Amino acid sequence: MAAAQSRGDRPVEPLIFEKSVPGQRGVDLPPLDVPVAPLPEHLVGSPVDLPEVGQHDVITHYTHLSTRNLSVDGNFYPLGSCTMKYNPRINEWAAALPGLAMLHPMQDDEQIQGALRLLYETRCFLQEIAGLEEVSLQPAAGAHGEYTALKVICAYYRDHGQPQRRVVLAPDTAHGTNAASCTMCGAEVVCVTTTDGYTDLDDLRRRIDDVGPERIAAYMITNPNTAGLFDPRIRDAADIMHEAGAMLYLDGANMNAILGKTRPGDFGADAMHFNTHKTFSTPHGCGGPGAGPIAVRGDLAPYLPIPQVVMAPDGSFGFDRDRPKSIGKVRSFTGQFGMMVRCWAYISACGPAGLRQVAETAVLSANYLAARLCKVYEMPYFDHAGGRFCAHEFVTVPRRLLGKGVSLNDIAKRMIDYDIHPPTMHWPVHDCLMIEPTETPSKRALDRFVDVMLQIAAEIERDPKALATAPREAPIRRADEVAAARKPVLVWEGEKKP
Ligand SMILES: *Cc1c(COP(=O)(O)O)cnc(C)c1O
Repeated sequence: MAAAQSRGDRPVEPLIFEKSVPGQRGVDLPPLDVPVAPLPEHLVGSPVDLPEVGQHDVITHYTHLSTRNLSVDGNFYPLGSCTMKYNPRINEWAAALPGLAMLHPMQDDEQIQGALRLLYETRCFLQEIAGLEEVSLQPAAGAHGEYTALKVICAYYRDHGQPQRRVVLAPDTAHGTNAASCTMCGAEVVCVTTTDGYTDLDDLRRRIDDVGPERIAAYMITNPNTAGLFDPRIRDAADIMHEAGAMLYLDGANMNAILGKTRPGDFGADAMHFNTHKTFSTPHGCGGPGAGPIAVRGDLAPYLPIPQVVMAPDGSFGFDRDRPKSIGKVRSFTGQFGMMVRCWAYISACGPAGLRQVAETAVLSANYLAARLCKVYEMPYFDHAGGRFCAHEFVTVPRRLLGKGVSLNDIAKRMIDYDIHPPTMHWPVHDCLMIEPTETPSKRALDRFVDVMLQIAAEIERDPKALATAPREAPIRRADEVAAARKPVLVWEGEKKP
């Protein structure tokens, strides 16, 4: 008999397959109450090698796994640019209501008036928040929204006799998805320099001249940007684009910072996307399901995906499929309906004043952390005393601590030992941490984060080498990240035969 392992000796949870015992069952199916109808031979595959485990083993297995990662529900999770905020449980209640959860997408419009009204109202909410004329709820992620909106912009230019407008400008701090979406659309990306975190307007003009204004489709920008700065000259950037006959595209990933304070349409954006899993508290991570609704100005609306949910003059709801200029469909049916239920619930619960308070608290929390940490963790873009505040997030480049012989990775890994999810790293500049607390943690949680960061700094002063072995108290210690990325083991190949 193998020796039993104590908790501490068990860094790796066995696979569910390794817990399999032949003959064990999780459920008993009721006796068959219809005649047996054997499948034709050619439809019967070979038996699937599924694990055989009792119900309690299944539950303990997945419950163990669920507690091995740091999570929004269990920890402080200041992942900059990604707005990992707490999702109020009422959203889940609403999305699970049988009248919404059990709908079939092929049901007749008359039977699903409530669901259509919910979609229509979500459209209207987002139009109002964007300050733009029309929203499509179809895209399934922020990146998918970028792609869809670019398709819409390209279709607009094709239809207006300017098919050659296929160059998209983007700042050198842009999110990786921006360039990827452009490439997927067959557009060329040209990089614009930023100075002190802001768009260099002279460089923007220079790039337009270099490329030729007649070839430019849009400038794609995040505002507030990923350095945590709201660019007050965004209106000038918009004017420069419009003079060139091109558009301003707003990457709306950071909308959490400006909800109800300003609207992209008001500062000159022609199109944008939302990330409901960032701003509107729908679940975030593990590849989805997310949602990336897009908003556009009126003359781009004819090109939006179909079907579009609409309200008829008699107040009933239905779908508009008759849009000859539409780019078509980018997602099945109306997109991620369950996410729209959560988004609607969140916006309805907050109301206009609540959404404004979200932005105010998110910005206050970030400035509070930045002000308390800036003496120990240098902040190149932030100068509290000089009146330069951050928006919802801030970037620190802890040069002095890094000079003591630790790597940024050492600092991030040590945070795991204190139950804090490490922030975004090395972006938008090398050796930086991008910290976004969001509005949901309490002041107590913010203060604990400050204590941890100051304690880690003190540990580095004492013995920088000690951090090389962090995390010391997590189920997985320092992983070989290169091997994990380059040679991932994704398939269980069974017990090794002796
Ligand atoms: C998260 C993010 C995106 C991409 O959004 P997904 O929903 O993850 O596809 C794009 N731009 C910025 C700035 C982001 O933070």
